[in-house]
Amino acid sequence: MQTINGLDRIGEENAFAVLARAEQLKADGKDVINLGIGQPDFRTPEHIVEAGIKALRDGHHSYTPAPGISALREAVASDIDRRYALEVDPNLVLIVPGGKVTMYLAIIMFGEPGAEIIYPDPGFPIYQSMINFTGATAVALPLHEENGFAISTDDILERLSERTRLIILNSPGNPTGGVTPREQFDALADALEARPDICILSDEIYDQFLFDGREHVTLLSYPQLRDRLILLNGWSKTYAMTGWRIGYAIWPPALFDKARKLAVNCYSCVNASAQWAGLAALEGSQVPVYEMVKEFDRRRQVLVNGLNSIENISCETPHGAFYAFANISQTGWKAKELASALLEQQGVATIGGLDFGPEGEGFIRLSYASSEANIIEALSRIQRFIT
Ligand code: PLP
Repeated sequence: MQTINGLDRIGEENAFAVLARAEQLKADGKDVINLGIGQPDFRTPEHIVEAGIKALRDGHHSYTPAPGISALREAVASDIDRRYALEVDPNLVLIVPGGKVTMYLAIIMFGEPGAEIIYPDPGFPIYQSMINFTGATAVALPLHEENGFAISTDDILERLSERTRLIILNSPGNPTGGVTPREQFDALADALEARPDICILSDEIYDQFLFDGREHVTLLSYPQLRDRLILLNGWSKTYAMTGWRIGYAIWPPALFDKARKLAVNCYSCVNASAQWAGLAALEGSQVPVYEMVKEFDRRRQVLVNGLNSIENISCETPHGAFYAFANISQTGWKAKELASALLEQQGVATIGGLDFGPEGEGFIRLSYASSEANIIEALSRIQRFIT
């Protein structure tokens, strides 16, 4: 069967393979601690679940408008106003089945042979996978440990060419937990005034997971970028709703209708009850979010301190998201081999850094979206294994 060449170049997200293997080992009776998958271990708050159930009971069983129900699009705009005091036109909000869909839409909109797209390395693996799929050139933007894995504007500017069409940014970042300081974004916004042809995809899905007094800098706060900024966000992480499959994007006016058409061609609309649940999330109490983030902060400290006390492992303190990116280069292990050995021999699931790009070699990602007891047990198993 002849399929398109792009399918030979497409990648995937190894976190799902690790999840499947961890589940298999558990089913075989092994005691497995999963620090691999990137999702909160909390349940979706009860009032959100109830709103989803009520929507089904109330008969919300039909298609909704493709961009989402208007109350939800308006609630997204109000939420941004509440959190950042920034105005967003609800007509530019596109409700999508998960934050990931926005990167898919944005990358196929700009990617084709001859085009260049800049993406963070180490970074969320789907960026590079989708760029390769389109035939565009994936231009890696290395993130450095000594820099706290922040994005460097100088590094971006060095990689611009006449063919650059899209720059993908992600702060707080997966897999590193790196948070990019405001000065870097200020400098980028200034520099890109000379390049109005370049679009930006800012993946801000971890915008509520910040620690040590760090503030989130949303790219929406740069008026000079608004006409070419695609903002990716959603409910998956903030409200522990990964399985509901709902996210949102804010598109620039010139691109909104193109994105809407792609959505209509692909999935028609997001399932109605998830949209009503998403509305309850934004309009209801935010206390569960604050409590979850507080708990993650505690676990983060346990995990990072524990990692730093293991011989030959070191870990920069991550200031955002819910991942620690531990440097294992002194252990003598390659990242993927170590992740695999830890899972098979110690029952600890982590992700080898290479799964996030070549710059991830020498690191493993550990999610602290797991109980403190699990983290402590995982640390002692890792210590035993390494030493
Ligand atoms: N962006 C980043 C950086 C992520 O880490 C993830 C999920 O892990 C997503 C987007 C996708 O989120 P969703 O589950 O809403 O599709």
